Formats: sequence, structure tokens, C-alpha cells
Amino acid sequence: MIDATHDPQLRSWVESANAEGTDFPVQNLPYARFRRASGEAWRIGVAIGDRVLDLGQARDAVAWPGEVAALMGPLASGDLNTLMGQPIAARRALRAALSSALARGSDLQSALQRCLLPQAAVEYSLACHIGDYSDFYTGIHHARAVGKLFRPDNPLLPNYRWVPIAYHGRTSSIGVSGQRIRRPNGQTKGEGPTPDFGPCRRLDYELELGLLIGPGNALSEPIPIAEAEQHLFGVTLLNDWSARDIQAWEYQPLGPFLAKSFATTLSPWVVTMEALAPFRRPFARPAQDPAPMPYLDSDSNRASGMLDISLETSLVTDAMRRAGAAPVRLAASNSAEAAYWTPAQLVAHHTVNGCNLRPGDLLGSGTMSGPEAHQAGSLLELTDGGKRPIALPGGEQRTFLEDGDMVIMRGWCERAGFVRIGLGEVAGTVVPALRS
Ligand code: CA
Repeated sequence: MIDATHDPQLRSWVESANAEGTDFPVQNLPYARFRRASGEAWRIGVAIGDRVLDLGQARDAVAWPGEVAALMGPLASGDLNTLMGQPIAARRALRAALSSALARGSDLQSALQRCLLPQAAVEYSLACHIGDYSDFYTGIHHARAVGKLFRPDNPLLPNYRWVPIAYHGRTSSIGVSGQRIRRPNGQTKGEGPTPDFGPCRRLDYELELGLLIGPGNALSEPIPIAEAEQHLFGVTLLNDWSARDIQAWEYQPLGPFLAKSFATTLSPWVVTMEALAPFRRPFARPAQDPAPMPYLDSDSNRASGMLDISLETSLVTDAMRRAGAAPVRLAASNSAEAAYWTPAQLVAHHTVNGCNLRPGDLLGSGTMSGPEAHQAGSLLELTDGGKRPIALPGGEQRTFLEDGDMVIMRGWCERAGFVRIGLGEVAGTVVPALRS
């Protein structure tokens, strides 16, 4: 639903929010959990330009309307999950209040000016408590490219076009941008008769979107697809770190386990589904593909089910960092081109057996690779399974990640007639394995 908060004429009294190309204009208003790097209590903030509006302070600085004040209570003490569990009308009311408070001409400006902090001066935790994490596999170009490496004659399995494929992920090792990723040790199988044990030698990233759940459902009460959008709270960037050599040996028959569970990194800012309203696309299938089953089909899903988010991955190696070199872009893609299933279809599918989703649960989109080889969202694809190294500025090469490498992912939305919004970035740095 597009409303006054998306008005492209809207400007903020926070001048950096009006800068060309900012991720955080007044039309965005994403949430993060933060504190000043001084051991203070965590609270929820809203990004505006290069500042954070501290909702811990803002709640008390202004006489908010009753409903908005009630919603801000938990946010002031660092709890986003309570807001996530609210009906969509409440989430919209808070967004509308924040939008008019931060817009030019607001009479709250002088009171709220004192509640702003520079983003450069704060640290983040994960935005919410994540109870459960499921990682989907909606990137059809990724699924086909990876399938081709493992099964040249049969890259896409027959269930792919019928079932949104997923596995249960691990929540305990999810961290926020800036995370240091310890290279995992594990079993790998080379050409020899028996497996080896030691540090992963094919460490990779996967460029994904993280979908965070809103109210959710009671056990054994599926969410119909027509209601699924109301149960989505917002979107983050997600790096699904992957140990390809461990994965290749362990993944059959039950799917990846230790190849994935050592780390997942999220961007700090949660961009709400409300902010993303202008950046939706129709869901469409090639004519020769099967139509989704009725429980995965709805008018609104067909009209606007897809998210249209531009994505890119960059790399900085240790040597580049020491030389002061800028990050090098490895690939770029778009979620509307990459995904075979929509967020609403994932919610409907996940709950169709009665499984309950709770506020703050995380769904990974799967790797968002575009149709072309240079649009791949993982090194496995970009290097054709490690066979074609990537040349980096400064003369280095990469097939998979080396110690000291920092992977940076960014996302943003653009559409004529609307103000560009961004998801910020998710970064993580590989550190050496423990001695095995
Ligand atoms: Ca994944």
C-alpha cells in the first residue's frame, strides 16, 4: 500500500537524509538495535540519513499519540519483537508518526534533534531475537548453476518448480555485520579412499535476502497466501557463509549441516515491508513452467508478489586493505530476476503443514544469482566450481575465500517516481581456522 510516507516530495529536516543516493531518506525509516560503543543499554533506533533516531530518548522527548507511545515502550528498551508481533495497522501507524516527525516542517524538530546520534558512533546487535531460521532456495539460476556442477545431466531436480525448497538453519551462529568468520574445520573428501579432517579449503559466501516474520501463526493453523504479506515484517541482507568442501561430503541425504551452521551474517537495518511497497513486481512464470498450486497462488501475489531489490557483492582482501585499495565488485543481481518464489509463497508454504512462525523468525531467500554468469551470488558459481579463478586488482586471484578477506554485500531499490531507498550493507571478515 503506497501512502503519504512514500511521497517523493517529502524531505527531512535531517539534511543528510536528503542527499542524493543515501540509503536512508525519510521514505525508508528502517529499524536497528544499537547502543553507543560504551556498554550502555541496547535500544531500537531508526535510520535517517547518516544519523540514528534513538527511540529510547525520543519516546520521552515528545508527547506522542497514545497508540504510538505504547508501541515505543518496548522499542525504548531494545525489544523489536513486540512491534513485529503487532498487526499491520499498528506498524503503519508508527511509520506514519515517525515519517511526519522527521519530515521538514515538523514542530517536533527541536525536541527530536537531541535524540539523534551519528551512525558512525554506534554499534549494532541483531535487530531482533530470532527464534528459528529456515533457509530457502528460491534462486533458480543459482540452483541450476550449482546443480550443474554436481549433476551435469540433471541440474534442476523435478521438485524445484513445485515446492519452495528449504532446510532448517541454525540461529545460534547468526551475527550482525562486522562479524569475524572463523574458518571452520571439518571432514572433507578428496580423491583418496578416506575423508580428511582440517580447515575448509573452499570457503564461500551466498548473497541472500533475510525475511523477518511479523505476527506469525498458532501451531496447526496455516497462513493462507492471501494473508501472508501481513505476516512479513521486513527485509535484511543475509550472507549465508558456506564451506563447499564440507558440504559436498556431508549433504546427502539430509542436506547441508556443518557446512552452513558455523556462521550467518545479517545487516543491522531491517527495512520494513511498508517501506518496500513501491518496489514490488508481478510474479510471473515462463509459459512452459507449472502454475503454482492453489495454496501458493493469489491475485495479490500475481500482481505484486516479487521484491525488486538490486544487490551486489564486493571483496577486500588483506593485501588490498593494506594497500588502501577500494573494495572490488564481484557481481551484481536483482531479487526480482533471481527468485522463483515470492516471500508470500514462502510464508504460505512454510505454514501449510501447520508449522508455526513466530515474530522475529528468519527466512533466507536462497542465493540471489541473476541469469548471467557474472551475476552470480557465490564464488562457487563465479569460478565455475573453483576451476576459473577471479583476477583481482593488485595481481591477486581467488577461487574461494582466503583468511583476511572481507565480503561486503549491499542492496537498494530504485523506481521512477519514487525516492531510492537502501538496505545498508552486511560485511564479514574471514579469520584463520583453529589448529585442527
Ligand atoms: Ca543458502
